[in-house]
Amino acid sequence: MNNQLILDKVSVHHQKTMAVSGISFSLSLGEIVCILGPSGSGKSTILRAIAGFNDLSSGSIMIGDRTASTAHFTLPPEQRSVSMVFQDFALFPHLDVSRNISFGLQSQLPKKRSDRVEEMLELINLQDVSHKYPHELSVGQQQRVALGRAMAPNPRLLLLDEPFASLDTDNRNRLAREMRKLLKLHNITTLLVTHDQNEAFALSDQVVLINSGSIQEIGSPTELVQRPTTIFAADFLDLGDLIEINLDMGGNLDFGLGKIPTHLSTDHLGKRIKLLLRPGAIICDDNGSHMLKIVGKNLLASTQGYSLELPDGQTVHCSASLRKEKTVGEMLTVRFCLHEVSVF
Ligand code: ADP
Repeated sequence: MNNQLILDKVSVHHQKTMAVSGISFSLSLGEIVCILGPSGSGKSTILRAIAGFNDLSSGSIMIGDRTASTAHFTLPPEQRSVSMVFQDFALFPHLDVSRNISFGLQSQLPKKRSDRVEEMLELINLQDVSHKYPHELSVGQQQRVALGRAMAPNPRLLLLDEPFASLDTDNRNRLAREMRKLLKLHNITTLLVTHDQNEAFALSDQVVLINSGSIQEIGSPTELVQRPTTIFAADFLDLGDLIEINLDMGGNLDFGLGKIPTHLSTDHLGKRIKLLLRPGAIICDDNGSHMLKIVGKNLLASTQGYSLELPDGQTVHCSASLRKEKTVGEMLTVRFCLHEVSVF
């Protein structure tokens, strides 16, 4: 069987409160999956249930071909063949890099143990600092030690809890790329949790998007961005402006500016719909046929971002060249380019 982890309708209560409910997804060998969601959505609860620290109220968790949790049974964490890397890395400050890595290998013979430590040091590329202590290392190096320590016992599944939370954005993106390379090279099945979509997208093959304890969507980063099926996904992933609008029976959108034709499916005709306008859907163009009032502006890296008011008071956004800067209160001439709109 290729599945390393299967969650089937997992629910977990904290005291009497339901923290997560009906969670089902699976990981195949070598796959990297991320649970992405806002703070309090239930990410850590799921991770801790997989590690064996939270009991289930219902459902089941299989790790490999072994039942790890049901509502009546929780296999102890140390028998699950799962390693976890904690947010703060939890390295032992009084042990050097080598001894941190060998910590989980106590049951092995000394020769086998030291060979495995050498192998891990090479894998995480820290041979040169094997005798240094955690406080003598950079944050990135500390993270690699935590990863090496977790991977040393050769677990079936690696769990990462907000792996880059303590890093600045530059380091975060670089380390996420490096970590993905390492995990893929060694075919390590990995589940991570994060609230940061860039981190999730940089690392994962599949993303499980959750909110308020339930799964909203599961898909590859590209699928989630290109074809979101929920308003929550479009909003949380910040894919563009979400506006409410009428679609007439002829397939025209009525922004109160004259009708704008679309190619939306007949399912939506004659309805009030929620529409996602992605960046690029509204283009600043002197030859455009619509004028919108500028109600705000912010300077982006090489363009000027404008907030524009639709006649019904809803706000949309567009960016324009810095050369013809306008001020708040002026009108901006635009055209609509509605090839890639999503409707909810
Ligand atoms: P996340 O990891 O996404 O921030 P959590 O899994 O930590 O979310 O929390 C999910 C929900 O469960 C939240 O409403 C949180 O307040 C609650 N919760 C988490 N841990 C406990 C606990 N030990 N006791 C009571 N409620 C908890």
